[in-house]
Amino acid sequence: MVVNSPDFEWAPYSNKVTKGGKTVEASHEPDTRYLHIINNFKTRRELDAYNPDMNTFILRKFSLEMEIAQPEVEALFDSFLSSPQLVKLGALIKKRLGRDLRPYDIWYDGFKTRSTIPEALLTSKTSALYPDPAAFHAGMPVMLKKLGWSPERANYLDDKIVVDPARGSGHAWGAAMKGSLSHLRTCISEGGMDYKGYNIAVHEFGHNVEQTLSLYDIDNYMMSGVPNTAFTEANAFIFQSRDLFLIGMKDDNPDKKKFETFDASWSLMEIMGVGMVDMKVWKWLYENPNATPAQLKKSTISIAVEVWNKYFALVLGIKDSPILAIYSHMIDSPLYLPNYSYGHIIQFQIEEYLKGKNFSNEIERIFKQERLTPQQWMVGAVGSKISTKPIINALDNALKSE
Ligand SMILES: [Zn+2]
Repeated sequence: MVVNSPDFEWAPYSNKVTKGGKTVEASHEPDTRYLHIINNFKTRRELDAYNPDMNTFILRKFSLEMEIAQPEVEALFDSFLSSPQLVKLGALIKKRLGRDLRPYDIWYDGFKTRSTIPEALLTSKTSALYPDPAAFHAGMPVMLKKLGWSPERANYLDDKIVVDPARGSGHAWGAAMKGSLSHLRTCISEGGMDYKGYNIAVHEFGHNVEQTLSLYDIDNYMMSGVPNTAFTEANAFIFQSRDLFLIGMKDDNPDKKKFETFDASWSLMEIMGVGMVDMKVWKWLYENPNATPAQLKKSTISIAVEVWNKYFALVLGIKDSPILAIYSHMIDSPLYLPNYSYGHIIQFQIEEYLKGKNFSNEIERIFKQERLTPQQWMVGAVGSKISTKPIINALDNALKSE
């Protein structure tokens, strides 16, 4: 009744709806969101007959697109969500908040580390270094050398990336063939590159380095690239997290590393929970292809409660919350949610592996592997399959130092 209506007012705390100051009886919307999911299901299912080997949307989304089977993804999520370290992390958040946890505390963001360096100081540094795109381009080999690349390799990579001014925040457009260049697009205002723009540009630079290595330095063009976007994002974030080092600054916040691990673990738990609900809903839809929106609603809520009780109830100390059914993402991008957790796991695993190793040598080796399947790529990169163990171990260590 209140959605998109200028006539009604809703007071969320009292949960009262008013019209012209008078309280009115309000009912919930019809099951429209569930009708959308059912329509999505029906259109996808129409395609099943044309894919004899991948005859469900679940198979196509996981085995075909992500190149990992859905049960494997579910087992991966289960391994993290069942880890006892999350219960300890929940207890720590409860202590920090000084109250019992509520379901919405799955979005607790109190571990986000604020840098100890004022942003104005960082911007004065980046804007002096990089007044325009050409200056950033000239700075790229310098950055690569700081990260351990030889002058020859730094120039080699630099020669294959051009820097363009952008109106948006930033972007990395990879070359599609040897001989063409990848583009780093960055937004620089009149006063030079501010810190935010710089931070994003370093992220994009990570993409461009990956794009160059996985195109120019491989044997077979048909195998160029990385398994999927999670793998190029990993390198972008790995570069981005070194942005202060690259301008010769050091963040002295002693708890930074520890809090980053807490934050990564807690938000991974949250996004995995909703991904789990998304997967279970789609399995239910295939088992109940003629479900009505009302039946799907009932089932979605009970799946959300089931996932909550299995994994979250112990961590937050509350039972029977349906909150994991809330994501609108499930409506407009069916079965996309699991990609986020999958990407975070991969990134964390590579980051942990790089610790104490020769950075540039490892990045070159890892991103020259060609476009293998994700599991094979990861075995080649870090010596083991995609796993949540690195993040669980890091969380365990961080908790021990609390
Ligand atoms: Zn990116």
